[in-house]
Amino acid sequence: MANLVIRLLQQLIPPLLLSYFYFAWKIATFEVGPNLISNSTSGPIIGYLYVILPSLLIVPTTLSFLRLYFLPSVQSVPPLDPPLLIQDKKIIFECLSPAEAKIIRLANDEEHDDDEPLVERCYKGECGGRWKPARTRHCNTCERCRGGWDHHCPIFANCLTAPYMRSFLALLLYTLPTVTIISLPLYKPLWTRCREAYTLSWTNEYIRQNWWEWRYSWIVAGGPIGRYAGGTFLGWKELDKIDEDSILRLNVGLMVLLGIILALISAGLAYTTISLLIKGNLTIDRGRSTAHNQALMAIRRLQLQNQSIPAKLEANLAKFSDQRYFFVPLPLTEGQLGRKGKIVETLPHERPYDHGLKKNLHIVLGRGWKWILPWNALRRGMDDEVFMWPIQDGVERRLREEAQRRFQEGDESR
Ligand SMILES: [Zn+2]
Ligand SMILES: [Zn+2]
Repeated sequence: MANLVIRLLQQLIPPLLLSYFYFAWKIATFEVGPNLISNSTSGPIIGYLYVILPSLLIVPTTLSFLRLYFLPSVQSVPPLDPPLLIQDKKIIFECLSPAEAKIIRLANDEEHDDDEPLVERCYKGECGGRWKPARTRHCNTCERCRGGWDHHCPIFANCLTAPYMRSFLALLLYTLPTVTIISLPLYKPLWTRCREAYTLSWTNEYIRQNWWEWRYSWIVAGGPIGRYAGGTFLGWKELDKIDEDSILRLNVGLMVLLGIILALISAGLAYTTISLLIKGNLTIDRGRSTAHNQALMAIRRLQLQNQSIPAKLEANLAKFSDQRYFFVPLPLTEGQLGRKGKIVETLPHERPYDHGLKKNLHIVLGRGWKWILPWNALRRGMDDEVFMWPIQDGVERRLREEAQRRFQEGDESR
């Protein structure tokens, strides 16, 4: 059901947004600008600025949007098999836990060895057993796995993944100033017009009888606020009839209102996205950690009441757990055939993909701040490292030491 809603929304939102961008650009460039040039008391310079600014601002905003909308369906899809470095076990990489690997091997009638790593694979949708590297998730709307998956976004009808995070952030961060600057000269006169429309709606016989005195207007408009909005809307339409060519038309008023809503949404989204990135998270990680905490709380509550724990809760706890397993290769010794290594799990407090504020941003967006420039924002921020996400130095060191220790311990006990 949720998937159907997303599919429907993503058919509607992109054309609506593009029409909005076009409409806003047209009004600002061909109406607000020329109007300011001829009427402004502060001289024509501001007017000329309003002829040029919208194009300068809306063009990069629209381009970042189109960039995300037209991403190929295979964007950020991992290769079918892991690279040779992983297949030959030459580097450290995330793998399935020995318990999960054992279940898969038993099902396939294979022998199992606890130190033999098995990479995760996905058999859902279009994936067909494709390699599923660390930080890869299967999108149920696209029916594909994508590396560095953040979420599926109906706004541009595509998955948002780490390599395109800069285009997404640019889109969000450009929207706020674009909308504010473009509609700035219109706020005050539109507000006056809005109040005039409201007053007119009461003096106009037809609107008064058919809206304000109509009992069902409360229900149709969904409450007092909607009722005021509806009355103003009707009054504004009347005003437009009297003064047809005015720039303060109802549709311009609605455009500015929609712009304010869009700007607020994008500012909020930009804020949450950046705060997640700073902590080394993607949107999916926050969802998983919430689900994990909920399962944990539910189990604790049941334990306190001395009740039995349903298997589903236990499964959720494991499924959304933050614990990860890494295959850690051991240094090659002379005459040794094949690469040896150990599978080591992370400790509860360890966050292998959190490198600290600066490096977290650097990995996803690129060094410094220049990714925000329009021509940079359209380029990919990450290449293949999205399938081999860098591991935090301290965690990697601890994993290597632990692998070495377990290896020696194993040797001594033999
Ligand atoms: Zn998949
Ligand atoms: Zn998707």
